Amino acid sequence: MRALYIYNTASRNKERFEPLHDPVAMYCCGPTVYNYAHIGNLRTYIFEDILKRALVSLGYSVTHVVNVTDVGHLTSDADTGEDKMEKGAAREGKSVWEIASFFFGKFKENIHDLNIIEPDVWPKATEHISRMIEEIRELERRGFTYRTSDGIYFDTTKFHSYCDFARLDPANLRAGGRVEMGEKRAVTDFALWKFSPEDTRRQMEWESPWGIGFPGWHIECSAMSLAYLPQPIDIHCGGADHIRVHHTNEIAQAEAATGKQFVRYWAHGEFLVVDKGKMAKSGGNFVTLDALKESGMPALAFRMFCFTAHYRSPLTFSWEGVQAAAQSLENLRKIIPSSGCGESGDGKDAKAVLHAFYDAVYDDLNMPRALAALWEVVRDSSLSNTVKREAVRLADEILGLDLLSAPHHNEEVVTDQDGMKIKFDASTQLPSALRKKIVEKIRERRLARTGRDFQAADRIRNGFARLGITIRDLPDGTTECTVSQPVATGDENPEVLFKFE
Ligand code: AMP
Ligand code: ZN
Repeated sequence: MRALYIYNTASRNKERFEPLHDPVAMYCCGPTVYNYAHIGNLRTYIFEDILKRALVSLGYSVTHVVNVTDVGHLTSDADTGEDKMEKGAAREGKSVWEIASFFFGKFKENIHDLNIIEPDVWPKATEHISRMIEEIRELERRGFTYRTSDGIYFDTTKFHSYCDFARLDPANLRAGGRVEMGEKRAVTDFALWKFSPEDTRRQMEWESPWGIGFPGWHIECSAMSLAYLPQPIDIHCGGADHIRVHHTNEIAQAEAATGKQFVRYWAHGEFLVVDKGKMAKSGGNFVTLDALKESGMPALAFRMFCFTAHYRSPLTFSWEGVQAAAQSLENLRKIIPSSGCGESGDGKDAKAVLHAFYDAVYDDLNMPRALAALWEVVRDSSLSNTVKREAVRLADEILGLDLLSAPHHNEEVVTDQDGMKIKFDASTQLPSALRKKIVEKIRERRLARTGRDFQAADRIRNGFARLGITIRDLPDGTTECTVSQPVATGDENPEVLFKFE
C-alpha cells in the first residue's frame, strides 16, 4: 500500500505517516475573527486541505478540527497590548460578538470559494471557557503557574523541554532586556488567564477561581484540541510563525497538564510574502480573496497559484502571478477531453496512469511536481479520452480545482463589498482597474436606487451606456453587465472615464 511522507517539524525530518487513531485526529489553528482573512492565511488553509485530502485518498477517515479564536488573542505575543477582538470591535463601531459572527461568516465564504473542505468541528473559544479554566487549574495543581498583578502565568522554567520543539537557545531567552517583561519571571513565560483591567469594562470577560478576566490565546488551542480529539493528536498544523511561540506554548501546557505527548506529527506551512515581507493583518499590507474576486480573478486561480510552490517554501504574491495561474487553470481545463463517448478504451487503469502524480502528492505534498505530472497525463496521446477524464477526476479529488467543470465560462461572477453579484460577459477582457471601477459604480447605482435617488441612478446607467456598457438587473438581485465595445484603449484614467457628471 502507498504511504504518505510528511515533514514533521518536531523531528525536522520527513517521516512516514503512521496514524495512532482511526479516524485520524487532525487539528489546525484557525482564524482570529477580528478582520477579513488575508490570502496569506488562506494559503495555510489550502495546504492543510491538501494534507487532509491526501489522507482521505489513502483510505483514512479524518476528524478535522479548526478552532475559531473569538477572544484572548493580544496584539503582542509578549502578553501585552490590546485584545485583537476588542480592538476590532472599536474599529468597526460594533460589539465584539457582532464582529466575530460577521468575520467568521466571511471566513466560511472564503473557505467555500476555495473548495476547502470544512472541518468536522469549528469550536469557538468563547464556548469553551470552563474547559480552559479546568486545564489551568490542573497546571496550578501540578505547580506550573504563578500569579502576577495582571494574570496567571505559565512558568516555562518548570517545563524542562520547553526549548526543544523550536530549537530555542535557553541562554538567549532567559537574558530578558529586549522584551518587555512586566512581572514575568522569564521572557518565555506566558499568560494562561488575564485579569480584566480595573478601570475599563471588557465586552468579553468571565468569572474564574482567580478573578474576572479572559483566557490567554495559547490555552485555547490546547483545551479545544483535546476536547474533541484523542491524545496524542495525530497531526497538528498551522503557519510557520506559530512554531516559536504559539505551538511551543501549546505543547508546554498540554504536556505539563497531562504528562503525555501532545501531538505526533507537526506540519507547518511557509508564508505568503509581499516584497519579501510577510503578509499580515497587523501590517496593513494584506490582500483579501474578495479583492482578488472583485478584480475579476476566479477564487480557484488563487488555489492554483498556491500549487506553484511547495508548502514549505515562501511564496511571493503578485497580481501577475495569480493572473498567470488563472490562465494556466483555464488552459488545463481546455485540454481535458470533453468526453470519452463511443471509445473502445485502451484498457489502462486511470489510477495507474496517475502514479507520478500520487508519488508527488505523497512525497510531502509536492504540488508543483504533482501538477506537472498531471499535465503529462492530459498531453499523453497514447491514452484514451475515457482514461484521461477518469484520471483528471481522481486527481481533482486532491487538487480541488473543479477541473471537469466547463472550461471557458462565458461569464464571470464578481461579488462587491456588500456581497451583491455582478455577472460579466467574460468574452471582453477588461483591465482589472476598469473592472473594479465598474463594480464600484454599479454599487453606487444600487445604493442610489435604494435611497430613491433615481436621478443619480439614471446618470450612472446613461454614463455606462455612453461607454458601451449595458447593465441589466436580474430578478435575484444580480446585475448583468455586458461590455460591447472597448471601454478604454489603455491609458485612460478610470477616475475620469467613470465620472459621469
Ligand atoms: P490568524 O488568523 O492570524 O491567527 O492566522 C491564521 C493562520 O494563518 C495561522 O495558521 C497563521 O500561521 C497563518 N498565517 C498568518 N499569516 C500568514 C501568511 N502571510 N502566509 C501564510 N500563512 C499565514
Ligand atoms: Zn492554535
